[in-house]
Amino acid sequence: MKYQKKTVDIVVPCYNEEEVLHMFYQETQKILDTIEDYQFRYLFIDDGSRDKTLFILRELAASHPHISYLSFSRNFGKEAGIYAGLKHTVADYIIVMDADLQHPPALIPTMIEAVKEGYDCCAAMRLSRKGESKIRSAFSRIFYKISNRFTDVKMEQNAVDFRIMSRQMVDSILELSEVQRFSKGIFAWVGYRTKWLPYENVERPAGKSKWSFWGLFKYAIDGITAFSIAPLRLVSTMGCIISFFAFIYIVITLIQTLIFGIDVPGYVTTLCAVLFLGGIMELSIGILGEYIGHIYMEAKDRPIYLIKETNLPKKHAAVSKAADEYSHRNEENYDTSTME
Ligand code: UDP
Ligand code: MG
Repeated sequence: MKYQKKTVDIVVPCYNEEEVLHMFYQETQKILDTIEDYQFRYLFIDDGSRDKTLFILRELAASHPHISYLSFSRNFGKEAGIYAGLKHTVADYIIVMDADLQHPPALIPTMIEAVKEGYDCCAAMRLSRKGESKIRSAFSRIFYKISNRFTDVKMEQNAVDFRIMSRQMVDSILELSEVQRFSKGIFAWVGYRTKWLPYENVERPAGKSKWSFWGLFKYAIDGITAFSIAPLRLVSTMGCIISFFAFIYIVITLIQTLIFGIDVPGYVTTLCAVLFLGGIMELSIGILGEYIGHIYMEAKDRPIYLIKETNLPKKHAAVSKAADEYSHRNEENYDTSTME
C-alpha cells in the first residue's frame, strides 16, 4: 500500500439513516475538501438497517472510490458497529462519528490540528444537553457520578462518540476484545493523551434517535458492571454492616428476655426485619446476577457482529466465513480501486 499523504478513515455507524445519509456525506465532504495533506476514506457500517440505508451506501460507494461500507446480517447495536469499523480501518488516523450530523463535521479540521500537535486523540464534548429531555439528562448525570466514583476509569460526562484517534490508540482499543462493549469506558480505559473539544449540541436534521429510556438504562448498568466490581463490594459491605447491627440487637434481646422474661409483642419488628432483609437479599442476588450474566455472555464468546455484505477488498475485510462465500459469488461487489 503506498500512501503519500497521511490517511484518515472515518467510521460511521448507521442504523435506519436513509433520511440523512446524503446530507451527511455532502456536509462532511464540504469540510474535508478544505483540508490538504490528508487523504480521507469513509467506512460506513450498516447495522442491519431496515430502510434504504444499505441501498444508499451501495450507490454512494459505486460513485465515490473513497467510500466503503460493511453491512451486518442484523442489528448488532452501535457498539458493534464502531468495533467492526475500527477493525477494518487501515489509516494513520481514525475518526468515529454519527451519521445524523449531530457530530458537526466542522470540528474535523480542529481535530486534525490536535493530532498534528502531537495528541493521540481529540474528542468532542457537548457544552450543554440542549434539546435532550430533562429526565435523560438527570439520569445521565447520576450515571456519570456513580461510575466515576466507583470505577477506575474517569469518564468525561459530556463526551460523545465523536473523536479522532491515532492508529496506536485504535490498535489498543481493538485489543480489548470483550463482547459486551462500552466504548466510552474503553476509550477512557486505554488512556493516551486526549484533547477535549467543546461544542454546542446540535439537533438531528432528520430521522430519529434510536435510544429508548430502557435501552439507555441497560447500557448504563452494563457500563458500570463492565468497569467495576464496586457493586459486589457494596453487597459484602452491606452484609457486614447488617450482621453487626443484627448481632447487637440479638444481644440486647437476649438480655431483655433473661431479665424480663419472654416479651410476646414484636410483630412489627419481625415484619420490618423480614421485609428489609428480604429486600436486601433480592438486591444482592440481582447484583450477583448482573455479573454472572456478563460472565455467561463473555464465556460464550460469540462474534460481536456478522458481515453480510461489503465492498472492501477481501484482504482488508476480516469478514465472516458466510460473507466470504457470499463474496466469491459476488466478486463484482469488491471495488479494489479504493485501496491503491
Ligand atoms: N446506531 C447504530 N446502531 C444502533 C443504533 C444507532 O449504528 O443500533 C447509529 C445511528 O445510526 C447513529 C449513531 O449510532 O449514526 C447514534 O445514534 P442516535 O442518533 O440514535 O443516538 P443519539 O444521538 O440519540 O445518542
Ligand atoms: Mg444522534
